[in-house]
Amino acid sequence: MPSKTKKSNGSPQTLKSFNPRTGETMREIPAVAPAEVQDIVEQARKVAPEWGSIDVDGRVRHMREIRMRIKEMTDQIVEGAAEETGKPPREALLHEVLTPMLQLAYLEHLAPKVLKTKRVASVVGPLLGYKSRMEFRPFGVVGCITPWNFPITNSFLALASPLFAGNTVVVKPSEVTPASGEILRDLLDVLPSGVATVIQGGGDVGAALVDAPCDKISFIGSPATGRKICAAAAEHLTPVVMELGGKDSAIICSDADVDLTTSGIIWGAFANSGQICASIERAYVVDSIADRFQEQLISKLSQVKQEEDLGSLTFAGQFEIVSKQVEDAVKKGATVLVGGPDAGIKNENGTLWYAPTVITDVTGDMTVMTGESFGPILSLTRVRDEQEAVERANKEGANLTASVWTKDSKKRERLVEALRAGSITHNMHIESVGGAWGTWGGVGESGYGRLNGELGLLEFTVPTHVSYSSMPKLKRLHWYPYDSASERLARSLIDFLGEKGAPKRLSAIKGVLKEYTKIAKSRL
Ligand code: NAD
Repeated sequence: MPSKTKKSNGSPQTLKSFNPRTGETMREIPAVAPAEVQDIVEQARKVAPEWGSIDVDGRVRHMREIRMRIKEMTDQIVEGAAEETGKPPREALLHEVLTPMLQLAYLEHLAPKVLKTKRVASVVGPLLGYKSRMEFRPFGVVGCITPWNFPITNSFLALASPLFAGNTVVVKPSEVTPASGEILRDLLDVLPSGVATVIQGGGDVGAALVDAPCDKISFIGSPATGRKICAAAAEHLTPVVMELGGKDSAIICSDADVDLTTSGIIWGAFANSGQICASIERAYVVDSIADRFQEQLISKLSQVKQEEDLGSLTFAGQFEIVSKQVEDAVKKGATVLVGGPDAGIKNENGTLWYAPTVITDVTGDMTVMTGESFGPILSLTRVRDEQEAVERANKEGANLTASVWTKDSKKRERLVEALRAGSITHNMHIESVGGAWGTWGGVGESGYGRLNGELGLLEFTVPTHVSYSSMPKLKRLHWYPYDSASERLARSLIDFLGEKGAPKRLSAIKGVLKEYTKIAKSRL
């Protein structure tokens, strides 16, 4: 289990990189002391104006270098991330190399369109002698605090949009996966000095980063930590983006394609050993299809190979949560269909293997239903029909994402409309985060604010409205004096704005023009 050795003054000095498949501590990595963080943020603040003043195309050229560096370091990333998280190397290749490259490539394409200055179209502005535009300016320094489940990809999820938007970033990756944090540092090293700084450390270093303060916080992690960060950020009125955990649900309709659906649900629940914020944790299966679905799911799951397809858990704390949830569920009457703590996987030397586990007969008083599992546990709940499924999916937990499994496109649309989730997918689950084109974020307990996509880029800008006079000599018509001419103009505008039909509006606009011409002469 990763642990920190302490300096005599209580500040963390090193972090241990641990291999959860073997129980071996691989190396020690220096951490920064919380007291050092403010200076680091100040340094990033000094660099911010220069990075922010490079035009978007120029920033995109710099950011493209990261993608090239990821390709060069493919094997190192795969090996490092797989060793430290316990995920299978092929899974690391897909999720820690390909996914950030996809995200970066899409943002490179999108950023110039989204971030360019836009003219504000208005009828009244030009009429009254001014024009305006929207500029999307950076905040300054964005503090990015990230989790251990995808130490590379989720760090890019948190930091890429801020960087494209012209902010410098100070990134604190998880203390659970510090060797991957060093890989991240190497990847970001292609940027001009001081644009992206990685600081290693635990929660205290994260807290110091929030308190530095930064100009915005991009947080990915648990709701419990999210609450603490929101409270600390509020002291400085620092805006935050909260990407938190989910209790995602899948709705398996009566007409679902059982072969496709069972394959998709197994991957959606057990990829990365279920340690994905958007893993399927609750499957609501319509009764009429449930026997066939369950039988095929269990049969296919037996062919998923532990080690090759399914890694170990990453973090000892998570192993505790998962084991306790299954024990609690069984004690309260749940039926284990497959897996569970007694499934024959030995955890010697602190290794963290946990068999994929499917349970049924779950009830609302079980911790497996009240909290996020973030592990390889799937609960199956039989429901009367799709209506009950959607009601329970919305009520029994926060859906960072939710999915609908059906062959019927009309049914799909009905259910999509009724579901409450940050992303909704059909006959697939999780996909939207990897694709980057899907703006990413939650609802309710699963968070707020957006990363990736157009809204993710705009999230890290200060939208600034600039107005300028198109008639330089004209004094503003609403300035003093408040005379009868300005009153008549105001009334003519009220008449115009209060009319619905085209003929009446046309006649009202003539009134505005008449009053405007009269008053404009007196204001030149
Ligand atoms: P965590 O909340 O324990 O830690 C996340 C980060 O916060 C770490 O870097 C940690 O050092 C830091 N931190 C801890 N205390 C802090 C404090 N007081 N102030 C500032 N920073 C502090 O989460 P975790 O265990 O690393 O990750 C698992 C959680 O992350 C799950 O809930 C999962 O669903 C969620 N997650 C969400 C997304 C998403 O996109 N919504 C993605 C991945 C993971």
